[in-house]
Amino acid sequence: MNRWCTTNALSRFAGWLGHGGFSVLFAAILLPVAVAATPPSAMRVNQQRIEQRILKLAEFGKNPDGGVSRVAFSEADIEGRKYVSKLMREAGLSVRVDAAGNIIGRREGKEPGRPVIVFGSHIDSVPHGGNYDGDLGVIAAIECVEILNQHDFTNLHPLEVIVFSDEEGSMVGSWALAGDLNPRALEVVSHSGKTIREGIRAIGGDPDELAGAAYEKGGIAAFVELHIEQGSVLFDEGIQIGVVEGIVGIHWWEITIDGSANHAGTTPMKKRRDAMVAAARLTLDINEIVTQTPGQQVGTVGRIRAEPGAPNVIPGRVVMSLELRDLSTEKIENIFDRIEAAARSIGEEMGTEIAFEPLYVSAVPPPTDERVRRLIDESARSLGLTTKRMASGAGHDAQEMARIAPTGMIFVPSVDGISHSPKEFTRPEDMANGANVLLQTILRIDRGELEPDISGI
Ligand SMILES: [Zn+2]
Repeated sequence: MNRWCTTNALSRFAGWLGHGGFSVLFAAILLPVAVAATPPSAMRVNQQRIEQRILKLAEFGKNPDGGVSRVAFSEADIEGRKYVSKLMREAGLSVRVDAAGNIIGRREGKEPGRPVIVFGSHIDSVPHGGNYDGDLGVIAAIECVEILNQHDFTNLHPLEVIVFSDEEGSMVGSWALAGDLNPRALEVVSHSGKTIREGIRAIGGDPDELAGAAYEKGGIAAFVELHIEQGSVLFDEGIQIGVVEGIVGIHWWEITIDGSANHAGTTPMKKRRDAMVAAARLTLDINEIVTQTPGQQVGTVGRIRAEPGAPNVIPGRVVMSLELRDLSTEKIENIFDRIEAAARSIGEEMGTEIAFEPLYVSAVPPPTDERVRRLIDESARSLGLTTKRMASGAGHDAQEMARIAPTGMIFVPSVDGISHSPKEFTRPEDMANGANVLLQTILRIDRGELEPDISGI
């Protein structure tokens, strides 16, 4: 119900009582009460304001293709941060920049001793990125505060809107909040050309005082991040809200296939030990094994190099990559064992040797909190939205926050699943849906619905 319906209803009611002119006064007196009394479950975000602010934020670091290059610590990043800080102040938040360069805007709660509810995302982009990745979570978080202001709502817990620093590069902002940042990470040169240490200084942080950025244990009631999906699952299935169960772990291997290099003109087909043909067969097997296994795992051969690499020489060696991602390390290992077995049989059949060397592991981060997932799901359903439990195939600040706080993540569809591209687009109604789910989830957490603790179920 909006305020005009309320006014009309009151007006008609007063008129029906037969008090004529008194009805106007009657409505005028009751109107503020009626607006303030809007039940939290009926509060809705302003879609148009979200859309306008997303477009305005897209001005900072705008590139000719319609997206942004607003890499962390660049001038565009600094200007974008000024813009969102201004919005936060205008929404009545008291704004600070912590030692890691995170912007935090606080709305005090009625009971200041309570742990804080934190929500937000990031505004830095990849080079030639889009206008929604991260931005939506920040603009929607500010929008939630606008709506609480509009309804004169008093929250019990303190609320903090957060803009994490350098999500796309180092995740230094959320990493510092989790409290165990490796100091060597500060010397890495970011896309801006500055080291992360220099970058943190440029955005108002203090890299020598990062320990001070960490939240105290138990200090966060919950963290919730709204983000575009960046994949096509929701868009393809026509589902409005994704409830993220966790962020996948990533394992990389280098595969070396040794055959025999030989003359491509004089070596008969039957006598060849062609490393490239073995690589091709193995690539197909990898694709089949990963596809046929039930679940959400993904596997990719993304890089391949043949040696000696000439049109007239049978490849004697191929070096290629293998990447597997899933929410379960055990499952990744299980799939890898089957890939290795497939490689052994290809090797025996073709007279090639196939060796796997682990290159890199990003361990599976702690999952999101089942209680927060449940609140997100219930909030979405109460708004009449369809939901799906899903994994995130990309990394997010939420994975760091999940180490120190009950964490939830809300996904909304990316049109055609395109992201990290100027073509990235999320429909305004989907942005508003996500923001409404964020608002309702925060309101539920604020009124204590996170309890009882059923984590681990
Ligand atoms: Zn992002």
